[in-house]
Amino acid sequence: MESRLVASRSAVLRPSPRQPLPTLLRVLAVTFVGTLSLIGCDLITPPLPPNAAEFAPPAVYTRWWAMTEACSGRSGDLTALRWYHVPGYLLSVNGQEASGYYSLGGNRIVLVDEMMDDGGGVRHEMLHALLKVPGHPRAQFLGSCASLVECQGSCVTDAGAWHAPSTYTVVPPDSVDLTSHATLQAREADGQRFLALEISVRNSRGRAVLVSVPPFPGVLPGSVDAENPPGFNYQLLGPAGGTSSNMYIEDSSTVFFKPFETKQFLYEFRVDSDLTPTHIPPGQYSVRGGYAWRWTAGETIAVTP
Ligand SMILES: [Zn+2]
Repeated sequence: MESRLVASRSAVLRPSPRQPLPTLLRVLAVTFVGTLSLIGCDLITPPLPPNAAEFAPPAVYTRWWAMTEACSGRSGDLTALRWYHVPGYLLSVNGQEASGYYSLGGNRIVLVDEMMDDGGGVRHEMLHALLKVPGHPRAQFLGSCASLVECQGSCVTDAGAWHAPSTYTVVPPDSVDLTSHATLQAREADGQRFLALEISVRNSRGRAVLVSVPPFPGVLPGSVDAENPPGFNYQLLGPAGGTSSNMYIEDSSTVFFKPFETKQFLYEFRVDSDLTPTHIPPGQYSVRGGYAWRWTAGETIAVTP
């Protein structure tokens, strides 16, 4: 069996309503109470978890499927896929913990509830369903679809060794241009609405660069946090509190930029009544995107149901 992809750290904070914004952002910046997410990927057919329930894919999955088809250059029949969800944050597949997996035999995707509205996680499994090959091919998971699918943990391990395609200059994080843009999307066909946050990092130089990212401060040398500093991340602050997330840099390809190359990552948040790493209640939001310890100035956006 193939397995899994690890992990973004997410934190949801619920401050008192009158706490001033700058304080909150400082709290967000240093508080990473992690929920660990794992994505398992399997091309044989394990039995469904006993508490799995089938669900009809929401309308946004049609959009996410089209995005995954476009980045992979593959096409497939979304309606032939069967979808199941299980309660909670983790499921067990073939003795391993995961937050979702694709099974080729059943042409089905099983997700924990926490993952159902996570675009990067859902599209990761969709990419498996389109590729129908073992493992996590680097050309798609860390290449053509890297701006749309999460790929960490054994997704990176599966992808195999990376070699820089050219010579490069090592530069600090402030040598690349960082921008972010939040957009409240039109309602999906089923009435769901998403806030999209696209983060872009551009190498404006005419030569290749490798961004050197300092480790988390105060961590032990050799620890996961020391080896894997943050790549793309975000902070949202709204009426119910804040939410933030962080993807580790686990593969050097994610900090290597060809001349004039732009890397992006797309986060989406479903407008709902609760505040979770993938849900936000309506209201006014301060939003900013991050990469390699840097943050965009941020913007304010009104989120309506
Ligand atoms: Zn996978």
